[in-house]
Amino acid sequence: MNRLKKYPADSAEFVVLHGERQQKRNRGLSMSFLGQKNPQKAFRLAKRLAVFPKIDDIYLKDVDLSGYICSVCDAQNCKLWRPYQTFEISLMCAKCACIDQKKDISKMDVDGKINDDTMGKIDQIGWYVPAVPTEDYTSEYRSYWGYSAVPGPGVDWWKKLPTFPKD
Ligand SMILES: [Zn+2]
Repeated sequence: MNRLKKYPADSAEFVVLHGERQQKRNRGLSMSFLGQKNPQKAFRLAKRLAVFPKIDDIYLKDVDLSGYICSVCDAQNCKLWRPYQTFEISLMCAKCACIDQKKDISKMDVDGKINDDTMGKIDQIGWYVPAVPTEDYTSEYRSYWGYSAVPGPGVDWWKKLPTFPKD
C-alpha cells in the first residue's frame, strides 16, 4: 500500500513518509519543507509537525456493533469468541465460552489468552476463536475474519476490548 498517495506533496506527512522511504532504500533525503531547503532539516521539521492517525483507533469506528453481543449472557463491549469454522455464528464472552468449553477462565490474561497445558499461550477457548468483525459488519449481516486472516488493525481492535464482561 502506498501511504504517500494519501497526503498532498507539500504536507508534513508526505515529507516524513517520503523521507522514511528514502532511508529504507538507503537513499538520501531530497525534499524541502516550509521553505527549509536543507533536506535533513526539512525532514526533522516535518517530523515534528506530521500527525498520523493510529489506524487501530479508527477500525470499525462507524460500524454498527449492536449485534456484537454474547449469545448466552448478552454481555457487550468486551472480547467475544465465535465457534471455529461454522456458519451458524453464536458469539460468546470469555466467561460463557470457558463454561461451554470446560476451560479454566482463571488462567486467562488481559490479551484474552489462556495458558494451555499442551499448546502454551493461545487465544482460543476450546473450539472457540476470537470473533473479529469485518468492516462491512451490520447487525443483520454479521461477518468475521477467518481465524488466520485477521488484519493487524482488527487484531489490535480485539485486544483492546476488555477481556471479561462487566458483571
Ligand atoms: Zn457471556
